[in-house]
Amino acid sequence: MSRAALLAVPALLLALGCRSAPVATKDPELGAAATRAAGVPANDLVDVAKVVPGIRLDIRYATKKNFTGEVLYDEPRCFLRRDVAERLRRAQEDLAAKGRGLRVWDCYRPLSVQRRLWALVPDERYVADPAKGSRHNRGAAVDVEMVGADGSSLPAPTGYDDFSERAHRDFMDLSPDVIANRAELEQAMVRAGFEPLPTEWWHFDAKGWEEYDVLDVDFADLPR
Ligand SMILES: [Zn+2]
Repeated sequence: MSRAALLAVPALLLALGCRSAPVATKDPELGAAATRAAGVPANDLVDVAKVVPGIRLDIRYATKKNFTGEVLYDEPRCFLRRDVAERLRRAQEDLAAKGRGLRVWDCYRPLSVQRRLWALVPDERYVADPAKGSRHNRGAAVDVEMVGADGSSLPAPTGYDDFSERAHRDFMDLSPDVIANRAELEQAMVRAGFEPLPTEWWHFDAKGWEEYDVLDVDFADLPR
């Protein structure tokens, strides 16, 4: 083996080893806090309000207007994995071109909050078991409604966290405009790279969500 080849081996090993380690980032949007989850790059979660122009937020778990009646988030914020936020940006742009837009109800949800939800409602029909983790805990799912250009809610099958059959995507005993709105939202989200959840018209998972780890970083520890 030549001297050059001998020198190249440790460099190659170093390069391979670095790939799986959390890396420091120079991105100003990102905080050091995200690195606390082992193996998760610091640049994984981004603030959707900053990266999706025109998106509206009504983060229900930061209010009592959710099915638990409890305030579960300290701050009304929406974080998603960078790649997932990019998809949401595409869906928002797609709808904005038609005089519509998105309002998000929930995005990334810290695992600690999932545990509190589970303590309040330990029923897998309504809440994901924190032992398994929710797709929201991975920063790879979003709850969203469609709004008009002025931000008003467009007619939809149900309100948020309605766990009745009426929220199912195949429920058809609805007015034609509601069915059309549901389809328009779903089409925009699917085109952007999301998969619709059959039982909740407002919930969409990013395709490939299983590749993201469950996270437990508080909003307070994410960049503002
Ligand atoms: Zn959801």
